[in-house]
Amino acid sequence: MRETKTYEELLEDLEELTLQLKEANETIHAIRTGQIDALVVETEGGPQLYTLKSADHTYRVFIEKMKEGAVTLNSNGIILYCNSQFADMINLPLTKVIGLPIMNFIPGEYKDIFKKITKQGWQSDSKGEIALKNKNNELVPFLLSVTSLELDEGTALSIILTDLSLQKENEKQLELKNKQLEEARLAAYKMNEELEDIVEERTKDLLVSREYFKFLADNIPVIIWTAGIDGKLDYVNRRWIEYTGFDVEESKTKRGDLISTVIHTDDVERSVTDWQIALEEKRKYEGEFRLKRITDGAYRWHYSQAIPFKDEHGNITAWIGTNIDIDDQKKELEKKDEFISVASHELKTPLTSLKGYIQLMEFQENLSEAAKIYVSKATSSVNKLQHLIDELLDASKIKAGKLKFNKKELNLTDLVNLCIENSSYIYPLHQIKKELQDDIIVRGNAERLEQVLMNLINNAVKYSPNRKEIIIRVEKNKDSAIVSVIDFGIGMVNSDQELVFERFYRANGHESTMPGLGMGLYISSEIIKEHNGEIHVKSKLNEGSVFSFSLPLATSQ
Ligand code: ADP
Repeated sequence: MRETKTYEELLEDLEELTLQLKEANETIHAIRTGQIDALVVETEGGPQLYTLKSADHTYRVFIEKMKEGAVTLNSNGIILYCNSQFADMINLPLTKVIGLPIMNFIPGEYKDIFKKITKQGWQSDSKGEIALKNKNNELVPFLLSVTSLELDEGTALSIILTDLSLQKENEKQLELKNKQLEEARLAAYKMNEELEDIVEERTKDLLVSREYFKFLADNIPVIIWTAGIDGKLDYVNRRWIEYTGFDVEESKTKRGDLISTVIHTDDVERSVTDWQIALEEKRKYEGEFRLKRITDGAYRWHYSQAIPFKDEHGNITAWIGTNIDIDDQKKELEKKDEFISVASHELKTPLTSLKGYIQLMEFQENLSEAAKIYVSKATSSVNKLQHLIDELLDASKIKAGKLKFNKKELNLTDLVNLCIENSSYIYPLHQIKKELQDDIIVRGNAERLEQVLMNLINNAVKYSPNRKEIIIRVEKNKDSAIVSVIDFGIGMVNSDQELVFERFYRANGHESTMPGLGMGLYISSEIIKEHNGEIHVKSKLNEGSVFSFSLPLATSQ
């Protein structure tokens, strides 16, 4: 029979039970919040307590500090333990995770694969990828590393979850880069192919143009050659071979023989020196010499030119030369010179008598006014004729190397002053302005220098039909005296300026419009050369010209 408890006994029991309940609740709470390493889990065989003795405090701190999520499951997939990273991964407070089935947190589409990985994990270590949902409901990829653990309380499954977002992002970037690389490789391949096509095409073009050049060079009636930077021949055309008898190889290798056999003995020294100077100074070569024709042994005059071929940095890479046969023209010119020489000499004697007779007539008394006018006109015409014949004679003398004269110290300023005075009588309508530095002394021939100056002043007047102002300047510059004649007339273009000092050259097509022979400047330049000076022109079409010559100052100065 059951013993009946007194009210006091029952109160005592109740107090005892309440205390036990409180303790139990506190234990459960402590287990749930991870304060103690134990867990009571409901199983088919009733409640079971798990303690994680192996996960001592240090170990748990370590697990907590890991970036990876860590979960321990029992064989029913209940979470026995997890770190806070895992709780964060599934976006729940740690207290709410432990004791719950992990399947609750695996998104539907990954459940199968998760089951597969964990099932395998119970047998041996396994790995696999799934995704979990973050707080924004986005899928985040994770690598699961699953291992079964033997604990006191039985076997458990440990899962380490590594966030693959960064790795996936890197893989994506890598894939993108690979794709770009592949695209670039393809583009490079295509470009290379195109380049190869172009090179092939160009090579073909080059071959064609080389053949074309060879055809052209071999059929042109001019000798063509090229030389390296050292001046040695490296190509000659067919005309050269036919003319000299030296083939390409001999021309390249037998330079000494070539010079002594082909160039006229009298021209060798001058031509070789000039060519050497052009090579050293890296500028165009120009010269005339006689070359022996192999077929009949005749020496014929050639005009030779060589132009340096430069790269984009201005360095010479080759020389390209031509030799043009000018023998026929040269002979024509010689005949013309001979004629001019003979004719001017023959004309000079009757002209002197004519001048004498006109002067006699001038001094006759009782000349009618009309006769006086005729005599004055005849004098002027005879003077012009005399001037022309003098020019022709001078030109002949220059050609024959006979333009020689005595020089002595003279006052150039006085000489220029005298010429300006004469010019003011001859050209009363012109204003001749003088800018003269005093007492400049040079060594020279007064008559010849006066001839040069008068020629420049005459030209300044003749070629300035609409402007009456002329400036004549004499100045010193270092060791030279410089005389300039400045006009504001028709001027001339650059290409004419290089040629006006040549024999018979007339600028601006003056042959038909202005009287003259084109000899004055040629003679002037030869006279100045004889004085060891230089003569130049600076001119602009329709603006005027400055003709200047320089002379060395006398040493006594
Ligand atoms: P000419 O005057 O007899 O023709 P020159 O030898 O003195 O011969 O001059 C050669 C050429 O130079 C002239 O034909 C002319 O075209 C040009 N020339 C000379 N002086 C001047 C000048 N002051 N202004 C413009 N052209 C000039």
